Order: sequence, then structure tokens, then C-alpha cells
Amino acid sequence: MKTEEYPDTAITSRGIRPGSSEYDEARSVWNGMIDKRPAVILRCRDAREVSSAIRYARDQGLKFSVRGNGHNIAGSAVCDEGVVIDLSLMKEIRIDPVTRCADIGPGATLGDVDLATAAHGLALPVGINSTTGISGLTLGGGIGWLSRKYGLTIDNLVGAEVVTADGSVLRASEDENVDLFWALRGGGGNFGIVTSFEFRLHPVAEVFAGVIAFPGEEAAEVYRRYREESVRFPDEMTAWPVLRKAPPLPFLDEADHGRLVLLVPMCYSGDPSEGERFARLIRSFGNPIGEHVGSQPLATWQQAFDPLLTPGARNYWKSHNFTELSDGALDTILDFGHRLPTGECEIFLGQLGGAVTRVSPDATAFRHRDTEWVLNVHCRWREPGDDERCIAWAREFHEASAPFASAGAYSNFLPEDELDRAAHVFGGNHARLAAIKTKYDPDNVFRNHLQIRPASSGS
Ligand SMILES: Cc1cc2nc3c(=O)[nH]c(=O)nc-3n(C[C@H](O)[C@H](O)[C@H](O)COP(=O)(O)OP(=O)(O)OC[C@H]3O[C@@H](n4cnc5c(N)ncnc54)[C@H](O)[C@@H]3O)c2cc1C
Repeated sequence: MKTEEYPDTAITSRGIRPGSSEYDEARSVWNGMIDKRPAVILRCRDAREVSSAIRYARDQGLKFSVRGNGHNIAGSAVCDEGVVIDLSLMKEIRIDPVTRCADIGPGATLGDVDLATAAHGLALPVGINSTTGISGLTLGGGIGWLSRKYGLTIDNLVGAEVVTADGSVLRASEDENVDLFWALRGGGGNFGIVTSFEFRLHPVAEVFAGVIAFPGEEAAEVYRRYREESVRFPDEMTAWPVLRKAPPLPFLDEADHGRLVLLVPMCYSGDPSEGERFARLIRSFGNPIGEHVGSQPLATWQQAFDPLLTPGARNYWKSHNFTELSDGALDTILDFGHRLPTGECEIFLGQLGGAVTRVSPDATAFRHRDTEWVLNVHCRWREPGDDERCIAWAREFHEASAPFASAGAYSNFLPEDELDRAAHVFGGNHARLAAIKTKYDPDNVFRNHLQIRPASSGS
């Protein structure tokens, strides 16, 4: 369907422009390093307005960016002097408990999704921070506590409504625009603006989850035990070790706050007594200095890390994939972990494997299905004066750990200076993505994030 109503003055007249009292709030994103000044922010309410917004930007000769919930570390939701097509008002969620399917608007946060699905005893595998947007997370893949059991978020996508570069509204699924559907599952926002996602859900209400904390001095041994045991975890079990200075968590002694700790957050999505058995196993990795574990609603656990991941701080991330945790990888993590530049920096290993690995690398755009761990070098600080020092630490660590990494990187963790690394991220799927880009966006208007260029551009 082609939407003919342009110019839709309703959407352009509501635009938030410099000088408006809403402007600064509307242009800010999660990462406090990003300070972009768009010409106008268009908060769309439906696919028709999204179509008008795209054609408005193109007719004015303005670049544009697409905003789900503004969490992308690269700040790709906003752009200087262009149009921000902001989807944050499009938060509608409809659940069909009989078919176990959900239609989710692109402005929904993971918290919105968790609460809506939990009301039916159902869940979608998403990420670990409830304020993240469903849109950007899904289009890049989507990893979290349920990935090993139910796959990436994209592995549960059954269809999408998409507004393409010429303003047409299409549906993509296994039956319609099959190539577009393939590309949307991991290829990011390169092909159009998704105005509705349709997902398959799973029956998950409670999980056995929590955090077990070890002193920094035991980190080497705990990592090694984790490496041995985690490869034998069933799909229900996942644990993501985090090396950082201890935040003021209520279950840690005040004397430990600010000391180096290895936190082992775990989540078991099955029989709680089995979950307790895995908690015992993790405790046996060392001598824990504190813990908070037990059965809880998944939606509660999904918010556990929100207080550590509030918006506004300055952040710089780097990422590698790993198929194994070699001695070299662990030694490098420990080395840089002992020189964390600030109290809020962390090094985490997100565990994948399980159901993620059982999907073929060419079944969706998300290529590196053999990834067992995604490393996130999460550097976080407050003062602009620390920018150089913190970014240098992250880059140095990223470079030092590269020899032990496997192919690719997780697109959703890439900083602004890595947005030209599509060939690295997509590997053997890159040429096919470029061909699909040529078909759906030959003029490369969707280019504000990880860049897949049309094949015809010769790049
Ligand atoms: C605190 C925090 C925790 C995180 N935890 C996880 C995690 O556990 N698991 C995980 O997988 N990732 C995680 N991420 C990364 C997250 O997946 C990405 O930052 C993702 O881009 C966020 O989605 P968003 O909609 O908020 O992003 P935005 O910044 O709004 O959008 C990012 C880009 O996605 C594209 N885009 C967004 N919406 C659309 C749309 N509807 N149609 C077309 N293109 C669109 C655009 O190119 C846009 O520039 C985390 C990020 C943060 C900041």
C-alpha cells in the first residue's frame, strides 16, 4: 500500500523544534555523551504519519534518524540538523493468549512488554534492562536471560509492518516480502521503519534468579570454574559474569562497596529446585561475599539492573564475540578489570549458546550463531574531563582481547566510531543484506546506524 496523504500537516505541525520547551528532553538519549541538535523531532502516532515523516524529510533534502527508545550507545536515534522520526508514542501492545502471539508497537520498552505478557503468564525473550526499546533491540538480534531457552528476540518474530524508503507500508513475514523479513532479523534499521512487530510468546511466569558476589581476589578462579561448568548448563540456565567495583547493593557489606567484585547474575527458567541446585553450584566457585537469589516473577527480575543503568551518564562500549573463553581471554579480562577507570565501568560476558546456536547462520541476518559469549566492555563515567582516559581504556582492552575473540560483534553494542563495520558484524550474510538494501532502500536513506550500503554503491 502506498500512503498518499503527504503532506500530512498534522505530523509536521506537531514537530518539536529548537526553542521549544520540549526540545532538550526530546533530543536526549540514554548515553550522556550524545549531544545532537536535530532540525525537528516528529513524534509519529501510526504508520501513516511515519510514511509522511519519511517523505517530508526526503522532500526537504534532510537526513533523518529513527528513534525507538533512544538506548543505542552510538546515539543513532538522533541526528544533527536532520529529522528525528520518533516512535515513542507508538506503544500499543495486544496479546492473544490463545495463539500466544503479541502485536507490539515500536515505541514500547522492554518493561512495557514484560508487564503486558506477564499478565497472561507469558514472556518474550528480550534484554536485561527494562527501559531499553523493543525496536532497536529486536532489529539487532536481542539477547537476554531467556535466549538460551527460547532464542534471540528475532527468533520469535513472526511478522512486521514496515514503512519503506518511498513511504510504502509493507508486511514482512515468512510468506510476504520474505527477503525483507530475513534482513530485519538482525540487519538493524537499514531497510525501513518497523511500525509494528508480531511475536510468538512462551509460557514463563517465575524464574529462579539473582546475583552471587565474589571478592575480586577470587575472580580468576571463579572465571575458570564458570568456564568449566557453563558449557554444561542446560538451556534453562544462564549466567553472565560481571567484573566491576561493587555498587552499593543492599546484600553487600558496606566495607565491600567500591571494591573489585565478580558478580555472577544467574537465571534459571524452569523448576525452581533445579535453579537452587545451580545457585549452589555457582556458590561453590569460590567464597561468596553476598547474594540475593530466589524465585521471582520474570518481570521483576527484568528490572533488577535498572538502578545501575540509568540514563544520562557518559558511556562508551566495545564488544567481541567468543566461541570459547581461552586462558588469554580470561587473563586479559582480569588484567583490565584490575584497572577499571571508574567505579561504574564493568566487563560483562553475556552467555548465549543453547537455542541461539541451533539456528542456521544464514536463516536470519544475525550471522554469528556459534557465539557462546558476547563481551561488553561497558565503560561508564560522569565527567567530560574523563572522556579521553575512559575511552582509551576501552579501546586498549578491546584491542588486547581481539586475538582471543571469534568472528563478528554484536551490532547493538557498537559505539559511534564502529558504525562502518557492517562487513565485520554480518560476515557471510553481508552481501545478501547489501542486495536486499538495494531493493528496498536504493538511495540509502536509512543510514544513521550500522551502515549496510546498497550493492550498487560499490562499497
Ligand atoms: C542500559 C542498556 C542495556 C542494554 N541491554 C541489552 C540487552 O540485555 N540485550 C540486548 O540485546 N541489547 C541490550 N542493549 C542494547 C540495545 O539492544 C540497543 O541499544 C538498542 O538499539 C536499543 O533499542 P532502542 O529502540 O532503545 O534504540 P534507539 O536508540 O531508539 O534506536 C537504535 C537504532 O535502531 C533503529 N531503529 C529503532 N527503532 C526502529 C524501528 N522501529 N524501525 C527501524 N529502525 C529502528 C534505528 O537505526 C536506530 O538508530 C542495552 C542497551 C542499554 C543502553
